[in-house]
Amino acid sequence: MNFRKAVITILLIIAIVTPGSALLDKKEYPKFLEEPWDHTPITVYIDEKNTPPHYSPSYPATVIKALEYWENGGNGKLSYTPVFEPVNTTDADIYIMWVENMEEVTGAEKGVAGFCRPMIANGRYVHADIVLEVGDYRGFSWQQYGDANMEQLVTHEIGHALGLGHSNDPRDIMYPTYEQRENIDPLLVQTTYPLIIIVILMAIAISGYLSIVWLRYHRKRQKLEHELLKK
Ligand SMILES: [Zn+2]
Repeated sequence: MNFRKAVITILLIIAIVTPGSALLDKKEYPKFLEEPWDHTPITVYIDEKNTPPHYSPSYPATVIKALEYWENGGNGKLSYTPVFEPVNTTDADIYIMWVENMEEVTGAEKGVAGFCRPMIANGRYVHADIVLEVGDYRGFSWQQYGDANMEQLVTHEIGHALGLGHSNDPRDIMYPTYEQRENIDPLLVQTTYPLIIIVILMAIAISGYLSIVWLRYHRKRQKLEHELLKK
């Protein structure tokens, strides 16, 4: 039947195209945007006022270290050298804040310790919010993040705010480790959005087609049964 051939062809196209595009992504370093900010310096506001109970006053220093890391070459994957300026106004380019529990406050999935939420307009970042958790459950007990842990977490999130995606290399700061795994990345959704839409539309088309075929077959059989019963 022709429809079967069509369905098989469509499925084959999906099977061939999907891993192919995944391979392409692996070759190039994953980036949301090559150069997300259209100005320099990039202003940063560290929220030291709205802090959760287990916030440590030593955390802002870890942010400064993270900013210096990226200003001094970072992981070598940026095509530009960022310059940051810590400011005291909340309308800064990057807004950094801490929460007691990521799952409770932001509705994030378990195991998510931080996220960067960039806002884009005309292909550029116009603002980025970085939200960080102050601790997590290790085994049965809750433990506050130490400065070394926080510095890693902040460095990773600032990497996102500079346009970088996740690395496949476990030694890379942009590799999503347990503490750095995030699910809230609107940009990630945006880049895979067309593919998801295509797959959904194809699935709807295929299931619609199959149900029409089944209905026709069903009616044909009913008709045949009627005729047989008459005899
Ligand atoms: Zn990440």
